[in-house]
Amino acid sequence: MSKRDYYEVLEVSKNASQEEIKKAYRKKAIKFHPDKNPGDHTAEEKFKESAEAYEVLSNAEKRQRYDQFGHAGIGGASSGGFGGGGMSMDDIFSHFGDIFGGGFGGFGGFGGGSSRGGRRVNKGSNLRVKVKLNLQEIANGAEKKIKVKKYVECSHCSGSGAANGSSYSNCSTCRGTGQVTRISNTILGQMQTASTCPTCGGEGKIITNKCAPCAGEGILRDDEVISLNIPAGVEEGMQLSVSGKGNAARRGGVNGDLLVLIEEEKHPDLIRDGNNLIYNLHISVPDAILGKPVEIPTVDGKVKVKVDPGTQPGKILRLRGKGLPEVNSYGKGDLLVNIQVFIPTDLSKEDRKIVEKLQESEGFKPTAGESENFFSRMRNMFD
Ligand SMILES: [Zn+2]
Ligand SMILES: [Zn+2]
Repeated sequence: MSKRDYYEVLEVSKNASQEEIKKAYRKKAIKFHPDKNPGDHTAEEKFKESAEAYEVLSNAEKRQRYDQFGHAGIGGASSGGFGGGGMSMDDIFSHFGDIFGGGFGGFGGFGGGSSRGGRRVNKGSNLRVKVKLNLQEIANGAEKKIKVKKYVECSHCSGSGAANGSSYSNCSTCRGTGQVTRISNTILGQMQTASTCPTCGGEGKIITNKCAPCAGEGILRDDEVISLNIPAGVEEGMQLSVSGKGNAARRGGVNGDLLVLIEEEKHPDLIRDGNNLIYNLHISVPDAILGKPVEIPTVDGKVKVKVDPGTQPGKILRLRGKGLPEVNSYGKGDLLVNIQVFIPTDLSKEDRKIVEKLQESEGFKPTAGESENFFSRMRNMFD
C-alpha cells in the first residue's frame, strides 16, 4: 500500500510553518482520537497516519529528507516505515505532552498507553549484568553460564498468583475490562477518558484465594543460571539483549529482558584497535640488519614470521585475517606487527668496541638519499 503525502494528510501547504503544522496536527489528533471514536478502525488509522506525518514534518531534518526523497528518505516506503506497522499508540501518546502542553485539561486519561485497548499486561523489568571476556573468547565467540538473582515465576501457582483450587472473579469495579471511563468537560467539549481501574490495577480480575509463598504476586526471588551465547567480535561497552530472560512479570505477564554489558579483559601482548590487533615486536639492531625468524602471539597460539634483512624501525607487518571477526558478519581484522628496534643504552666494554667499529664503517652511515627514503617509509607506514 502506498503512503499518502504527509502534507496532504495534515492538509497543510508545502511551505507551512512549524506552528501551522502543529496546529493542523492538533486538529487531526482531536478529530480522530480513539477515545472519541471508539471501535472506529478508519478513525484509528487516520489518527496514526496524522501522527506519523507530524512526526516527520515537525522535525526539520526529517522534513528536509522527506521533501527531497519522499517516503524513501525517511527510512522506508519499502520496509513499511516506522518499524513495519506504523507508530505505536504509545509513541503517539508520548508526543502529546508537547502538542497539547501540560495545561490542557481533559487529556489526562490519554496517557497510560500500556493500559489502552483493554486489560493491562504486566511486564517484568529488565535485568542488567556484566560479562567479562578475554580476547580469545571475543575472537571465537563464547558460551557463558551466569548466575543471576531475579524474579522467577512462582512454582507453587505457576505464576498465576492464585492458590491451588482457587479461581479468579471478574473485577466488579470495571466489570473485567481493566479500565474505568469517565466523561469530563474540557475546552474541546465533552471527552470520554479512560484510566486504569484502581481496584484490580488494570488486570480485570481479582484472585479469590492468593497463593501463600508469593503472596499472590506470582513471582519469587531466586537464583537462575542462564547460558549466554556471545557472538564473536563483541567489544567493551557493547550491550546484548536476551529477550525474556529478565525479571518475570507479576501474575503471568511478559518477562523483561536480560541486558548483557560486555567487558573486555586486557591481553598481555595484544592491543585491540577495532577489529585489528596490534603487537609491538622488539628486535635487536643486528636482527634488524641481518633478519631473523620470530614468533608472534595471536589469539589462537603463536605463528612464525620472518623479519627480513634490512628491516627499518617502525615497519609494520600485516598478518591478514589474524585479527578479530566482525560481529554477525564474515569480515575479519588483521594483526599488525609493529617492529621496534631496540637500542641498548648500557653497553659493556666489548660491546662498545664493536659499536665503535661499526660507527667507523662506511656501510653504517646514512646515504645521501636517506632523508627522502625516510619520508617514503613514513608514507608507506600509513597506507
Ligand atoms: Zn505463587
Ligand atoms: Zn477492575
